Amino acid sequence: SMRVLSGIQTSGMMHIGNYIGAIRKFAMLQHEFECFYFLADMHSITVWQDPEKLRAQTLHIAASYIASGVDPEVATIFPQSGVRAHAELAWIFNCIARLGWLDRMTQFKDKAGKNSERASVGLYTYPVLQAADILVYKATHVPVGEDQKQHLELSRDIAAKFNHDYNAPHFFPLPEPLIKGQFGEAGARIMSLRDGTAKMSKSDPSENACIFLSDDADAIAKKIKKAKSDPDPLPSEPDGLEGRPEAANLVGIFAALSGKSQEEVLTDFGGQGFGVFKPALADLVVDKIAPISAELRRLEADPAFLQGVLKKGAERASAVADPIVKEVKEVVGFLV
Ligand code: ATP
Ligand code: MG
Repeated sequence: SMRVLSGIQTSGMMHIGNYIGAIRKFAMLQHEFECFYFLADMHSITVWQDPEKLRAQTLHIAASYIASGVDPEVATIFPQSGVRAHAELAWIFNCIARLGWLDRMTQFKDKAGKNSERASVGLYTYPVLQAADILVYKATHVPVGEDQKQHLELSRDIAAKFNHDYNAPHFFPLPEPLIKGQFGEAGARIMSLRDGTAKMSKSDPSENACIFLSDDADAIAKKIKKAKSDPDPLPSEPDGLEGRPEAANLVGIFAALSGKSQEEVLTDFGGQGFGVFKPALADLVVDKIAPISAELRRLEADPAFLQGVLKKGAERASAVADPIVKEVKEVVGFLV
């Protein structure tokens, strides 16, 4: 049977990269599969989070899921910290994963920066907790953005090594990433509006780098107008975007949100400058995001409702995860 799991860190405001890479897929998958969507509050404290803000951000991400079409009666929405089994399995997986595997993780290098001795141990071992998040439900499919591909491969390596070391073949499934959208876009990784070589990230402090799901039409238009670009007109073939990361990103956003391929977008806009392309892109983004923003604001005004959803979700998730952790403990040789 197929089981889907994914989550988003409660480290800031949701942006269109999270929407394109992750949550719009969450809503599409919920009717076909049994789906678990969590709020990764334990991941988010791998870097400092103000407690008051963390609470607000957790509700914000929950509201964003629902505003983007995830139905809490259909899919299970819950905070990661509300299901103890994640942390329990993570410890066991810390003893399965090898230092050499984690040393290869590029996200740690990006986030820790040059002064990595000052990074938290949690930031280093984050992909191990992520493996536990998935495998504690024996999930088979994980909808994520392209930036998470390497971590998913690590989850598969951990599952395989556990199965092998404990001579428990097929105990854990090897989870499959669901990266490519069904929109013709190839595993879109949305980049910062200020730097076409850096990923758009919730934790990016620079203003105007992200378009947030909570941005109104004015803010969206302004950010796109200010977005870094270059003086040349758009090419008429995708090859012509090589070496033009900002242009490629804006075309990529247009493609992802319109459901067209890059080729089709360039057939329509090739030869045009950004003076023409940016306003068209702004109209498209507003068109797609404005209804979500409105619903997001309505939901955020009702924190009691959101907390109720999360409490019920945590109970439903624990009911699946707890028996699996119990089985794992037996396999490992803990007295249970
Ligand atoms: P942070 O800066 O705290 O890491 P983030 O913006 O990278 O935040 P995550 O919570 O790490 O967001 O990731 C949530 C989901 O959104 C993941 O599935 C991830 O692959 C996807 N995602 C994040 N950023 C992008 C992006 N720029 N383009 C496409 N998908 C993205
Ligand atoms: Mg991230």
